[in-house]
Amino acid sequence: MQILSVGSVALDAVETSAASVDGVIGGSAVFFSAAASLLAPVRVVGVVGGDYPLAQLRFLRDRGVDFTGLARRGGESFFWAGRYSDDFRSRETTVTRLGVFADFDPVVPPAWRDSGIVFLGNIDPELQLGVLDQVRSPRVVAADTMNYWIERTPDSLMRVLSRLDILLVNDEEARQLAGEDDLAAAARRIRRHGPTLVVVKQGEDGAVVFADGWSHSCPAHAPERITDPTGAGDAFAGGFLGHLARTGSSGRAALRKATLYGTATGSFAVEAFSVDRFRTLSLAELEARVRHLEAAVATEPRLAGARR
Ligand code: AMP
Repeated sequence: MQILSVGSVALDAVETSAASVDGVIGGSAVFFSAAASLLAPVRVVGVVGGDYPLAQLRFLRDRGVDFTGLARRGGESFFWAGRYSDDFRSRETTVTRLGVFADFDPVVPPAWRDSGIVFLGNIDPELQLGVLDQVRSPRVVAADTMNYWIERTPDSLMRVLSRLDILLVNDEEARQLAGEDDLAAAARRIRRHGPTLVVVKQGEDGAVVFADGWSHSCPAHAPERITDPTGAGDAFAGGFLGHLARTGSSGRAALRKATLYGTATGSFAVEAFSVDRFRTLSLAELEARVRHLEAAVATEPRLAGARR
């Protein structure tokens, strides 16, 4: 099944206590497609400026990512810079320059309107709605969002929620969106607005999927090293939806397995700057990590966040 991914295609600068990089490729659609393309074909809708190093997307093209929907405009590409604390627990955004992204009006190529899965990256909810108006009855619609939109455009965000099957957010965003501290109660409240599934990413505490009458938690993969956490959430979404696209199923077993794939792809993302770890990552390595996580899930007690 084909996945349509709409989101930022960015240039990033990242600073950690150990090293820093500047002008590397990033953005939600890039991290998402780097992970999802190991499992299923991906179509990207986005925009870049004349400064974008398109040759660096080549490894993704070679893995079946179609960039026909990536518009090129005169001007600067979206640029984001961030700095991490020594323990990677917090991040400060130091620069955001929208550039050509300021006028981004996503156009889904006509041949892509039948995509089976749609992933709406973290962009203005009005643009997310515009994308949904251009696609024909996808099997699964999933989206990400962030506190910026929760605070500034709550009404549009509610309209997006009403059209979603899956919302992927981190724990802080889930609590803020629902106005509810208890995570299971927050997920229940969000589900009342539309999504049948709420996937809550909890960083080093793993991830929990909340559905009607059941929940499933997956511990995080204990990393040997963290180089750069940027994009881990989008890579999680890529692994999660990539598995659903590959199997064509969204039953309970597939959703459980998708959580393992998302956790695994998110964990690979943090091992290098930008999408560098995905340049060499093989499907066999990804599946080995999924098996490892599966064994951990089988032996670990449920996470506190999964209590209902
Ligand atoms: P994450 O670590 O999941 O927050 O994703 C980080 C990626 O999102 C970086 O590669 C940034 O280029 C991109 N990004 C940061 N801020 C925004 C924004 N406001 N809109 C779209 N993409 C963004």
